[in-house]
Amino acid sequence: RLVKHFPITKGIVMQSQVGAVKAVDDVSFHINEGETLAVVGESGCGKSTTGRLIMRLIEPTSGSIEFDGTDITTLKGREMRMIRRQIQIIFQDPYASLNPRMTVGDIIAEPLEVHGIAHGKEKREKVEALLKVVGLSPWHMVRYPHEFSGGQRQRIGVARALAVNPKLIVCDEPVSALDVSIQAQVVNLLQDLQTQFGLAYMFIAHDLAVVKHIADRVAVMYLGKIVELADKKTLYDTPRHPYTQALLSAIPVPDPSVKTERMLLEGDVPSPINPPSGCRFHTRCPHAKERCKVEDPAFQDIGGGHQVACHFWNEIEVPKAVSAIKAG
Ligand code: SF4
Ligand code: MG
Repeated sequence: RLVKHFPITKGIVMQSQVGAVKAVDDVSFHINEGETLAVVGESGCGKSTTGRLIMRLIEPTSGSIEFDGTDITTLKGREMRMIRRQIQIIFQDPYASLNPRMTVGDIIAEPLEVHGIAHGKEKREKVEALLKVVGLSPWHMVRYPHEFSGGQRQRIGVARALAVNPKLIVCDEPVSALDVSIQAQVVNLLQDLQTQFGLAYMFIAHDLAVVKHIADRVAVMYLGKIVELADKKTLYDTPRHPYTQALLSAIPVPDPSVKTERMLLEGDVPSPINPPSGCRFHTRCPHAKERCKVEDPAFQDIGGGHQVACHFWNEIEVPKAVSAIKAG
């Protein structure tokens, strides 16, 4: 497959205004054109913040965000609006992000107007086409968000994001609030749209089960840092970071003949205000040694684009239960 890099972030450091909370700390990754990069971690790990940084809804303390070869952190005015068109976002709770007093037609038409893409009859036709593309009907145009189910509302959010022909959509836990049966439908829709329009997704999720089908590559985040990043097969078959191993062991295995052993993590997620010294995971890691308390492990490439931040990645055995869970 022909790949083109969107070197999305280069050493992004985000320190939010509230005290010294390190929401995202020196995170670097790229997203290839037309691929899905899943970003997974517990709440508060900085994954949503990373999505918002890319959208430039918030500004980084330092670092740069490149899109198609341009550092978008320095763009203003018209140039920024051009980039805005190409990067869209869909949210976990579509209801909260859809104006309840606007009809669905107006909600989807709004970005077309804001960006001067279509007016009048042409705009109406475009809205109709977008509704069809996401599996809704043209007559839904005159309805209001509260008249739709959660899954349908997410389709409306997707139609609005698609209206401006983006290249990248940040999907911030787009199915977490939906019933499991509906989750699959929305994920399938997103996959179809990706093929149809060549979209790249940054798909944010809090567990590895949700992204098992949609991801091409997966980044696992813990307390504001990426601790492991690999293509999906590598990450699910041979996870090297103990935190990734724990997340994988939490996925129920459908095959009852496969014995799984849950790797339970002790303790709560520490506060990002005062993250643990050394390796931030050492307070919960079953493999932690003295060195982990004092030395922050480098995020190193261990071959084939598989990156991991653990001093002992090559000494820690990949648990059988984990390696039995194959990526779909
Ligand atoms: Fe665990 Fe140490 Fe590796 Fe951190 S560096 S993940 S504490 S073994
Ligand atoms: Mg979030």
